[in-house]
Amino acid sequence: MAGRIRDEDIALVRERTSIAEVISDTVTLRSAGGGNLKGLCPFHDEKSPSFNVSPARNVWYCFGCGAGGDAIKFLMDAEHLSFVESVERLAARAGLQLRYVENDQAAPRARPQQGQRQRLVAAHAAAVDFYRAQLGTAGARPAREFLAQRGFDRAAAERYGCGFAPDAWDLLTKHLRQQGFSHDELVSAGLSRPSRSGTLIDRFRRRLMWPIREITGDVLGFGARKLFDDDDGPKYLNTPETPIYKKSHVLYGIDQAKREIAKQGKVVVVEGYTDVMACHLAGVPTAVATCGTAFGSDHIGVLRRLLLDTDDVAGEVIFTFDGDAAGQKAALRAFEDDQRFVGRTFIAVSPDNMDPCELRLAKGDLAVRDLVARREPLVDFALRHVINRYDLDTVDGRVEAMRRAAPLVAKLKDREKRPEYVRKLAGDLGMEIEPVQRAVLAAASGQPAGQPSPGPARAARGAPAGDNPQSLVEREALKLALQEPVLAGPMFDAVEASEYRHPVHVAVREAIAAAGGAATATGGAVWVEAARDACADLAAQALVGELAVEPLRIDGEPDPRYVSVTIARLQWGSVTGRIRDLKSKIQRINPVSNKDEYFALFGELLSLEQHARALREQAAGGL
Ligand SMILES: [Zn+2]
Repeated sequence: MAGRIRDEDIALVRERTSIAEVISDTVTLRSAGGGNLKGLCPFHDEKSPSFNVSPARNVWYCFGCGAGGDAIKFLMDAEHLSFVESVERLAARAGLQLRYVENDQAAPRARPQQGQRQRLVAAHAAAVDFYRAQLGTAGARPAREFLAQRGFDRAAAERYGCGFAPDAWDLLTKHLRQQGFSHDELVSAGLSRPSRSGTLIDRFRRRLMWPIREITGDVLGFGARKLFDDDDGPKYLNTPETPIYKKSHVLYGIDQAKREIAKQGKVVVVEGYTDVMACHLAGVPTAVATCGTAFGSDHIGVLRRLLLDTDDVAGEVIFTFDGDAAGQKAALRAFEDDQRFVGRTFIAVSPDNMDPCELRLAKGDLAVRDLVARREPLVDFALRHVINRYDLDTVDGRVEAMRRAAPLVAKLKDREKRPEYVRKLAGDLGMEIEPVQRAVLAAASGQPAGQPSPGPARAARGAPAGDNPQSLVEREALKLALQEPVLAGPMFDAVEASEYRHPVHVAVREAIAAAGGAATATGGAVWVEAARDACADLAAQALVGELAVEPLRIDGEPDPRYVSVTIARLQWGSVTGRIRDLKSKIQRINPVSNKDEYFALFGELLSLEQHARALREQAAGGL
């Protein structure tokens, strides 16, 4: 049984604790009048602050979700500590020595039994010391060289707690066992793992180590960089998910960056440990990085509370990328995650495709600060990204680019910014404002991208958007692939993306192929998510989400016949479209001076018409 902390000591801890300071470690607070403070609640998702702190009464209360209590309760809820752990944390903070009530047996106790979290944090603290000491040994020379080559001196290595995992099977494990950590604790912490023979061995070997800290400074895990060519593991290895390490939440560098993030109201998201170090050392103290995962909504949650990102106070999030496609895709995802966030999201892409660490080495600290200063709004970045994929020298290219870009402008939550972006888009495309505006309005009214503005027979609300039969049948085919891949997969996969007429449908078809094809899928959320991830742009991503849930246009369960009819109708539409294009092309050709081309096209037309007749019969099969 754990010893109980004496009641008077608990009271003393409460008295000596500044609740505002404790909460400010994780939530940025501002004055709410009357001596009270408020911020964004860490216990529920909110856009305007309803989380109130009263320093005078030493309590906090959230009007949004009803959570509330004192500083002890805050730590219990926010950091999942036990009551005793919370009191101990606050006592340490206030410099108070706690006394414990002895158990009935009156056995002398060195210290109370700690909760699991605290034990795992303590094991990590001991591991940091161990790895740090190893960095000075002869075997760690490649680790020291790695740091030196990237412009990090000894002081930098110490500031970030860099270390070295030695070339040994169980040196750390033995060391921590000697310090009293149990087999189970080391496994739970992710520091050790059982070998095939059942003995406990170190998880990390022969690697450069970065301790990953949470916002309060506690080390929760490690990032480990490969150093040796004969190490066949991945370049970076991270602590696995443990009771305390959740990769979707942790942000490397947040402990050092939090004060500046709150003060400047901005955060710079970089890609790696060395980038965080380089940014901080170069005078960008607000840099953090995700650890072995993409930037996601949980990270946004952590940052938003620091940034105090509310409707009336703007916090800026700046993503830096070295220009690779994966990084850009991650940035574009911000559009999906939190629309409110979009207006405050910026992109800084290094012109030489260097990451901040390389940039600092090649061009110095100022170049890193410049990179961040030259940031571009996410919306501008996304539009440019979409437009660049088309040949703007041709009318077709400009029209396609407009159709693809319009949904992005239409999605802007901040409607007042739309006219500005319509003008900008028109300028970039070299088009008149009017058609661009029409395309944005059509996209905003729920028309799929690429649809002309709706005619008088506009589809009723709730019906699938678009009154063009070809558009409907393309949607239906994509729905079958997303919702019924086992049934429709093989037939669906046989039809190329080029047979789809509408650009956004082409993009979704391409994404399904990139995700491995519908025939390989077994369906469900995993499949839809894979297709969504494979989308080249946001309009396609949004459409995948829509089509995955939109009901099929058939009463009852779809059967193979329904699939084959749908696919045949799609192909028929595609072929008749090509026939139209071909006929207009033939009309423009002079059959006398271009005899060869004329007959070639004419031959093509005849075979297409034959194909169209066959498909038409197939498509008539029952619908
Ligand atoms: Zn709340």
